[in-house]
Amino acid sequence: MRFASGNVTMKVSVFSTKPYDRHFLEAANADASHELIFFEPRLTCDTAVLAASNSAICPFVNDKLDRETLTLLAQQGTRLIALRCAGFNNVDLAAAAELEMTVARVPAYSPHAVAEHTIALILSLNRKIHRAYSRVREGNFALNGLLGFDLNGCTVGIIGTGRIGKIVGKIVQQGFDCNVLAYDLYPDPKFEAQGVKYVDLPKLFAMSDIISLHCPLTPDNYHLIDAAAIDMMKPGVMLVNTSRGALIDTQAIIDGLKSRKIGYLALDVYEQEADLFFEDLSDSVIQDDVFERLLTFPNVIITGHQAFFTQNALQSIAETTLNNVSDFEQGRSCNNTINLEDYFAPKGAG
Ligand code: NAD
Repeated sequence: MRFASGNVTMKVSVFSTKPYDRHFLEAANADASHELIFFEPRLTCDTAVLAASNSAICPFVNDKLDRETLTLLAQQGTRLIALRCAGFNNVDLAAAAELEMTVARVPAYSPHAVAEHTIALILSLNRKIHRAYSRVREGNFALNGLLGFDLNGCTVGIIGTGRIGKIVGKIVQQGFDCNVLAYDLYPDPKFEAQGVKYVDLPKLFAMSDIISLHCPLTPDNYHLIDAAAIDMMKPGVMLVNTSRGALIDTQAIIDGLKSRKIGYLALDVYEQEADLFFEDLSDSVIQDDVFERLLTFPNVIITGHQAFFTQNALQSIAETTLNNVSDFEQGRSCNNTINLEDYFAPKGAG
């Protein structure tokens, strides 16, 4: 699908467009300062041609900006990659730098959106809301299998205490009287002063009843949660990942669920999500057996990368994305530009 609007200066090819992306981007572009061209397909080396002669592209989390795709885009004249998300693990930053392309992102839109979804997952998993909902609709009012536990007094381990992790920590600490342990490459003394205890990862694994991931995916923390990490955890631990799928070794998690070492699992992200999420596949035969195995466990809840999905977040994403385009176009310095150093020193990389 192709759509253009208004008298404009910079042409922006928007990939992986859904109706909600278009709605919020068009609203943010009400003054028609940019020409937005919407494409439904994901950006890959096969679809890069759609952006021909457009100087900016606007990709989302599962678009594939590897060296091959970036080279094709650069040959076609793309100079700006304006990501409409925080994470940039899907971009080969070294290739982008070599090709003299600028990469910008939306580092913060609504950390509350993701933090609140994390809490929704924790509460649903614990009190089995996903199972209770179906039962009651079928006239089954039995309580067997729905037993939960009080969050009050539990120990919650937060990995990554940036914008989102801090809000999750605050909610569980102040809302449920949980003890909060934290791990971050860069501990924040102000957060610690609020009664949060920074510990090393083995200690966090060993002491937490609930572990929630809020760090970016970097080359250093791929499969941070693997069999060895799971071994260190409490029996029956609840694990929540609303950050990036590849932080977790999914096969190790399945083994942990089968042995009951992992008592609860909530995922909003999945390492192979690019082939699944954001699409209606209800009429398809899903080929990913690992994902399908996850769905068979009664103590697993999966949402399809929707933690960010609030009106507030989409409005903020659209506005910041188009501001990033304007900054680039007008040669202004832009705080949201990603430098190669961010990649190797992940402080602030979300
Ligand atoms: P942020 O940059 O504010 O915070 C990230 C924190 O993680 C920083 O304090 C950083 O020092 C820390 N960190 C970096 N590498 C680490 C490591 N190896 N171990 C421990 N800590 C590490 O980011 P944020 O806005 O809080 O977002 C956190 C993550 O949430 C993002 O990386 C993004 O991937 C994910 N996210 C998911 C969604 C969603 O819809 N599911 C939406 C937005 C963001």
